Amino acid sequence: MEPEDTDSGYAAMAEAARRAIAYRREIAGAEHTPVASYGEMLAAFAGPTPERGGDPAAIIAELATLATPGIRASTGPRFFGWVIGNSHPTGVAADWLTAAWGQNAANLHAAPAASAIEAVAAGWLLDLLGLPDSASVGFVTGATVANFVCLAAARSEVLKRVGWDVEADGLFGAPPITVLIGEDAHATVYSGIKYLGLGARRVRTIACDASGRMLAGDFERAIAEASGPVIAIGQAGQINTGACDPFDAIAPIARAAGAWLHVDGAFGLWAQASPAQAHLTKGVELADSWATDGHKWLQTPYDSGFAIVRDAEAHRRAMAITASYLPPVEGAERDPSAYVPELSRRARGFAAWAMIRQLGREGIADMVAGHCAIARHMAKRLAAHPGVELVCPVELNQFMVRFGAGDGADALTLAVVKQVQEDAVAFIGSALWRGRWVMRVSVTSVATRMADADVTVDAVIGAFGRVARNG
Ligand SMILES: *Cc1c(COP(=O)(O)O)cnc(C)c1O
Repeated sequence: MEPEDTDSGYAAMAEAARRAIAYRREIAGAEHTPVASYGEMLAAFAGPTPERGGDPAAIIAELATLATPGIRASTGPRFFGWVIGNSHPTGVAADWLTAAWGQNAANLHAAPAASAIEAVAAGWLLDLLGLPDSASVGFVTGATVANFVCLAAARSEVLKRVGWDVEADGLFGAPPITVLIGEDAHATVYSGIKYLGLGARRVRTIACDASGRMLAGDFERAIAEASGPVIAIGQAGQINTGACDPFDAIAPIARAAGAWLHVDGAFGLWAQASPAQAHLTKGVELADSWATDGHKWLQTPYDSGFAIVRDAEAHRRAMAITASYLPPVEGAERDPSAYVPELSRRARGFAAWAMIRQLGREGIADMVAGHCAIARHMAKRLAAHPGVELVCPVELNQFMVRFGAGDGADALTLAVVKQVQEDAVAFIGSALWRGRWVMRVSVTSVATRMADADVTVDAVIGAFGRVARNG
């Protein structure tokens, strides 16, 4: 066995960089490439458990060669599926350093740079998102975990206010918490509700308008009907429509009732960072906690999410880990593990810092506004085509279209989506919205330009024409 740090190890790192750069160069300029299936990739990787090690650079070359056919071009300029950012080269490079430095971001004494950069990036993030500068930020894997962390702080605080210590005494025998949530909330919020023992079936759903925005009247009624502790969960950026809840109406209602208002703003919270879009999230800064992603609109590589809590004490109460071998935190020092579920973890602050440093306030605002303009442009061109229906007005960066009319529209829409994916000029997915199948377009990649939008619209219209003709 060779020692770890030798020229052969460094050759593996260089090989990874070389392969990564070659891949990104190809994807940036290429058609949207088709991708091998899961089954094909299983067959490609299959083999007996290795008995002996090998040459580091050769292993990395083998990995890259085997994996590449099954790498979906989600960093490409014409990727409009789900809500996926670009893994910007600056973020990727910072992430390489993160891995090479091997810092355990659990503790500020173990990892001073990794811990300090989180404190600084947290401040920048709060500034960009227009949130209270005293709020605490946990650097987590994504919005799913951010929602969980924020809701854990919410659970702790609303129970503390009625004299119950949930960290010590658990939920058995605790005063019941009423959870209010919009009927078009993201599925992952329910994960947090489940992990925290709040019960996915126990929630009271709030009626929404045609774009998935909570109706403030129903919210007010539900809060008035609730007795005891209340956690209300709003949303900035509905996954299909991009709609944001009317925070300027619901946040004061929540506050007057003593409820904790949490906002799932995985991508939509970034409207706050763009003066042209900030009116959409007006009042969101009045909430008590916010979940958002770095790996969506901030373009960091996976995994990067932020759990932001107004009451930092509640945040720490729900998450902090204490152990004799962990040196104590003093004064204004910020211990990374006090705000996240994990102890040992990746130093996520490096990539977050690098991406904010890369784009800057202006770059982020321009990107968000640009993506919204691209979404409006694509929707307008598609809706102008006979037989294409724009399902909801475009509010942010997400929109849906349907093809054909009447009973056949579901099947036709799915067939058009399939054809677009097969043609591989662009990637767009489908979704079920209010019981109807739609083509869902998400514009979230910094690689996407207006020209890509036009090429994509042409491809969709072409696919629609062929599918419709072939019946
Ligand atoms: C993507 C998304 C999530 C989940 O975020 P992950 O980063 O995938 O964990 C939650 N809510 C909304 C609105 C989202 O768009």
